[in-house]
Amino acid sequence: MPRKKKPTAAYAAEIYDRLVEHYPDAHCALDFNSPFQLLVATILSAQCTDKRVNMVTPALFKKYKTPKAMSVAKPEELEEMIRSTGFFRNKTKSLLGMSAAVAERHGGEIPDEMDDLVKLPGVGRKTANVVLGNAHGKNEGVVVDTHVTRVAGRLGLTDNADAVKIEQDLMKLFPRDNWTLLSHLFIEHGRQICDARRPKCEECFLNDLCPSSRVVSSRA
Ligand code: SF4
Repeated sequence: MPRKKKPTAAYAAEIYDRLVEHYPDAHCALDFNSPFQLLVATILSAQCTDKRVNMVTPALFKKYKTPKAMSVAKPEELEEMIRSTGFFRNKTKSLLGMSAAVAERHGGEIPDEMDDLVKLPGVGRKTANVVLGNAHGKNEGVVVDTHVTRVAGRLGLTDNADAVKIEQDLMKLFPRDNWTLLSHLFIEHGRQICDARRPKCEECFLNDLCPSSRVVSSRA
């Protein structure tokens, strides 16, 4: 049987190397050209696919080019533009509140510090991590979404179910420089192979290591 013991840094490194080898193009799937655009897209991505968000954002970014412009948008217009992403009333409130706060408190620039980001309306640690890692190039934490939660759990990298605790576990196991890419790699693996309902363990390149593998490995 593959390991079911406390994960080591060496185990984590082996997983990371294989993921990088198999998903050399893993990257943020949201389309953006600035920290402001990524923050907007990330807020919209809650309970919604990245693909759907990418269908909505071009018109949004064209109409609202700056936080100031978005902060004075008519709520009904914004709601209509983002309706298809779901939870559009709450998301509209977040976009209006966030853009007003950025315009007023940060001179229209999206902050590059975690403490400042999480004080913006509608922005939690996960959203802040996305922006810091992908728009500001800062590895402050690991983005933990549903794919990261599932894949990390199945690989025995964490015993926790809570996103904040999972993030802490992953931060201890992986070097800081790898934190942003790590999320993209797990998300890619979750989408392509380690499916929620039907993980394709038989074709998984981690099946000789994974404690949740449904394949009996001759190397284990
Ligand atoms: S072996 Fe199966 S459970 Fe483990 S990571 Fe691969 S697909 Fe997921």
